[in-house]
Amino acid sequence: MPRPAQGRGPIATTRASARVFRLVLTDGPVRRGELVRRTGLSQPSITKITRAFLDRGYLAEVSPGHGRNGVGGRDVRIGRPSVPLDVRADREFVVGVKVTANELIGVVTDLRAHVRHAARNHLSGHDVADVVGSVAGLVDELRRLEPRFRVRTHALGVSVAGAVDRDRGIARYEPFHGWRDLRLADLLSAETGLPTVVDNDVRALTEAENWFGVGARADSFLLVTVGAGVTGGLVVDGRVRTGAFGVAGELGHVPVDPRGPRCYCGATGCLEAVASEPAIVRRAAELLGEPDLALPDLVRRAQGGDARVRGVFEEAGRAVGRAAAGVVNLLGPEVVVVSADHQAGLALLEPHLRAALHEASYGAAGRAEVVVRLAPFEEWARGAAAVAIARRIGDFTSPPG
Ligand SMILES: [Zn+2]
Repeated sequence: MPRPAQGRGPIATTRASARVFRLVLTDGPVRRGELVRRTGLSQPSITKITRAFLDRGYLAEVSPGHGRNGVGGRDVRIGRPSVPLDVRADREFVVGVKVTANELIGVVTDLRAHVRHAARNHLSGHDVADVVGSVAGLVDELRRLEPRFRVRTHALGVSVAGAVDRDRGIARYEPFHGWRDLRLADLLSAETGLPTVVDNDVRALTEAENWFGVGARADSFLLVTVGAGVTGGLVVDGRVRTGAFGVAGELGHVPVDPRGPRCYCGATGCLEAVASEPAIVRRAAELLGEPDLALPDLVRRAQGGDARVRGVFEEAGRAVGRAAAGVVNLLGPEVVVVSADHQAGLALLEPHLRAALHEASYGAAGRAEVVVRLAPFEEWARGAAAVAIARRIGDFTSPPG
């Protein structure tokens, strides 16, 4: 059992040690020799850094062939350089919370962002104090589930919609609750007693994908999410890109149809105005002349063979594919991940988005692997947890060597 009282400082205290820890976290088990090769640090430096992590219970030596993620309590302290090292994922836990208009979605994860528990709570009100109090309540509820969560949770990550200054912990503009320049991280930290990092929800999801998802095998990828809105995240050369103005990756507002519907952002024919769930519902309602339709009705009708409804999904799916192709041709990512929180809706979009992306890809850019998968809100909360893990390690910027 690690010594819990020592867990409150940062996990890594130097840039070099952060780099080593991140590499073992995302790619472990890893031998010391490989760490030397991939970080460019000297053998004595690697020995010293890994020794300190071993002593503090963050790393363990594992028998070769031992699978990852199962290290806890079974380390064999042989001390030979050829013995692989791995992170003790349950050395610490973090809580991640996604804030939506009416609901909080929370998870407690280990250091590898594996979700150990999840919970959802409705928000009692929209005032800052209501939301902060509700987040603290959910954090407390999750930490009470197991004694080790109470003792070994040292960070909270919270993701919100809109513009966020992550470094200063300020929600610059949050559209659901109307917050402007709110020092959210300080408020949450005071209420929960946990160091708190606040981030934009899509960027947090992209960080999780970069650290613990396709980022483990691809240096460059595009993440597209289709749901109440259409959003995107962009990782190029190992880093989540936000651009000069923080909007890089905003696929939802890429214009896809000059004759398309007006978008809430003021422009015409944005992807979001064509392919978000509300856009699909609105378009189908127009076509069918039935104003009170909801997405499940449309899914049922499309599955039942209604050609008009199927056409609406086809149009939306093709728009997503064309917009993604624009990014693929421009930046050449290895992987395109398309996710949605509605499985049946996603299945109706998938063949069309794949076909349009394939048709519109230029040359070798078309080799990009396309991954289509479900991402419920718990995945977004896990994104917030991943940002908290990154903050614990003190390394947002340097990709693994
Ligand atoms: Zn727009």
